[in-house]
Amino acid sequence: MKLYSTKHISPDVDLREAVLKGLPDDNGLYMPYTISPLPEKFWKNLDNYTFCEMAFHIAKHLIGDDIPDNELNKIIQEAYSFDAPLIEVGDYNVLELFHGPTLAFKDFGARFMGRLMGYFLKDNKKEVNILVATSGDTGSAVAHGFLNVEGIKVTILYPKGKVSDIQEKQFTTLGANITALEVDGTFDDCQAMVKRAFLDETLNQTLTLSSANSINIARLIPQSFYYIYAYKQLSDKSLPLYFSVPSGNFGNLCAGLFAKKMGLPIEKMIASNNANDVFTSYHQTGNFAPRRSVQTMSNAMDVGNPSNFARMMDIYNSDIDKVRDDIMAYTYTDEQTATCIKTVYDKYNYVLCPHTAVAYLGLDEYVYDEDLNPNYINGIFLSTAHPVKFGETVEQLIGEEIEIPERLQALIKGEKQSIPMSADFEAFKQWLLNN
Ligand SMILES: *Cc1c(COP(=O)(O)O)cnc(C)c1O
Repeated sequence: MKLYSTKHISPDVDLREAVLKGLPDDNGLYMPYTISPLPEKFWKNLDNYTFCEMAFHIAKHLIGDDIPDNELNKIIQEAYSFDAPLIEVGDYNVLELFHGPTLAFKDFGARFMGRLMGYFLKDNKKEVNILVATSGDTGSAVAHGFLNVEGIKVTILYPKGKVSDIQEKQFTTLGANITALEVDGTFDDCQAMVKRAFLDETLNQTLTLSSANSINIARLIPQSFYYIYAYKQLSDKSLPLYFSVPSGNFGNLCAGLFAKKMGLPIEKMIASNNANDVFTSYHQTGNFAPRRSVQTMSNAMDVGNPSNFARMMDIYNSDIDKVRDDIMAYTYTDEQTATCIKTVYDKYNYVLCPHTAVAYLGLDEYVYDEDLNPNYINGIFLSTAHPVKFGETVEQLIGEEIEIPERLQALIKGEKQSIPMSADFEAFKQWLLNN
């Protein structure tokens, strides 16, 4: 597998280097040279594949011979011990992506990446430092994806007071090779500190740094699996297919675009945003204007400068008409999100997390705007987190308690351990050098 930088300055790399480096030196993002359609045979056999069999064929198709088949198979089997069911909710289907250990879709990317890096580092002498900025769910998924992976140390930066208690518990209680830094700032500050660290000469001379945010290609590849898995589960595959994706950094949506390039017949992707509507504004005006993120109830989407925007521009050659052909974009307030959670529960007895509610709203609005008949389409919205992760908020809206799944109870038992850090790069740098 050959990858290039979206800035076209840094040299091409193979998968190993792209995964271990995370970001090219020119500050672009790695992209696969070719994402070609999956062979006819794959689509014919799709109904007979298990998730893991399907995932293996897709991964093999993308990755080629960079990993031996038996190793790739092992990585997939170990990473995906849970399901991604497609469930009917009213006129639409929801793809539940929260059945992994941290109850969020980021498990799909993080568990694959953790094992892939583990494989690539098998014979490495020097320890690798993974730096992650999180607005909520990345931290826990990455922490769990890498927990006890040999040769890897993980440092998680998260904005103090801006993640839910449950989210915080999930990445501050693990210990072992996982350290959490509680940054006195916003998610954007955390992300900026991590980005700067990757470009800092002293740090790179002293440490082997790598990233695990959705900018790492190893997280994007496996996220394409579940789009195709959703399609596999449809009873009538001939109807036009729509996906609504609750978006923050747009890794999830980009992975959907990969799936489309591999031949999944997606009519339209719907980018559903909260008040952090930089992409929606771009979609409407053609002007991309990153800004500071604002806090919302769907906090994992509180992103003011979506890191995968560069990949989308690369895919569409920065041609907004092409973007609009494939993608629609909407934005919703917390009030609309809250009303949606309540309405969907009252009407269909289904509990949405705030992110999922934003996705539902986007799909529903698109269907209304385009005057589509819901009976003659496959409208799928992605559920990116289990509602229990936003327990109090959601429980107040639906007027019922949500049962806490066992795997979460086990996670939140531990004691929070974190290191306070100012939103200052030099302080962070010193800490890294001293630890
Ligand atoms: C990370 C996250 C998102 C946003 O996904 P991106 O790939 O960053 O667009 C949405 N919902 C939840 C629950 C998340 O954790």
